[in-house]
Amino acid sequence: MTLDEAVKTLRAAGVDNPRLDARLLLEFSQKSLPQGEGGTFESLIARRAAREPLAYITGHREFWSLDLAVGPGVLIPRPDTETLIETLIRLRPDRTAPLSILDLGTGSGCLLIAALKEYPNASGAGIDSSPEALVWAQRNLAAHALETRAALIETAWPEEASPGFDVILSNPPYIPTADIEALEPEVRRHEPRAALDGGPDGLDAYRVLAPRIAKLLKPGGLAILELGQGQSDAVSALMTGAGLQVPEVVADLAGIPRALVATGW
Ligand code: GLN
Repeated sequence: MTLDEAVKTLRAAGVDNPRLDARLLLEFSQKSLPQGEGGTFESLIARRAAREPLAYITGHREFWSLDLAVGPGVLIPRPDTETLIETLIRLRPDRTAPLSILDLGTGSGCLLIAALKEYPNASGAGIDSSPEALVWAQRNLAAHALETRAALIETAWPEEASPGFDVILSNPPYIPTADIEALEPEVRRHEPRAALDGGPDGLDAYRVLAPRIAKLLKPGGLAILELGQGQSDAVSALMTGAGLQVPEVVADLAGIPRALVATGW
């Protein structure tokens, strides 16, 4: 299959950047699979034409300039989510602080790993209800030599912890159930529903998390939560209803309020 044929195939399948993806997959087929183990160029193009995410096919996605392994069963890190790390760094400028960090719904581990990299004396925990996701998180922690600084725990949203955490990060599922069918096939057909589906109004996770975050934070602690578009007011109300303060909501690069900051007492 020639590059031009591949581009045509991807374009016909409705792929967003057919030329870029075809090039990347050609490169991938040549460089990392000398024996053709991962498939020929043609088979990689067929997977992409079936709208499998590029990151699942290549097995990698960059987040916060860190290479992360991803594949079926884990949400692919999005650039919007980097807003949470930028916000953390701005609000906790002392990089030597021995922060304890909890990542609720860690998935690939992207938030936890980026935070631990930025704060070399920090330690933490990532929890997720999906054992498949935790396999990727474990692999990524190991690849970044962070296994000794973080624990991964398979559990639903935890109720409390003693003595609590200095920092809580979370990118919970927040897409209203009925909106999922309108998402791109890459997302709706291939990425894990549990990482996306926020219930009828998209706010189910925040409802459960608000009182729990209030208990999980240490005094003076800081929570930074990712939001879906248009959820800023509703989630702020849930957090203040649980006794937390919401000093700010930070916009992402597209200007969409994306990272909600909540503090305890
Ligand atoms: N940002 C993701 C998307 O739009 C959703 C992630 C989430 O629900 N937390 O596909």
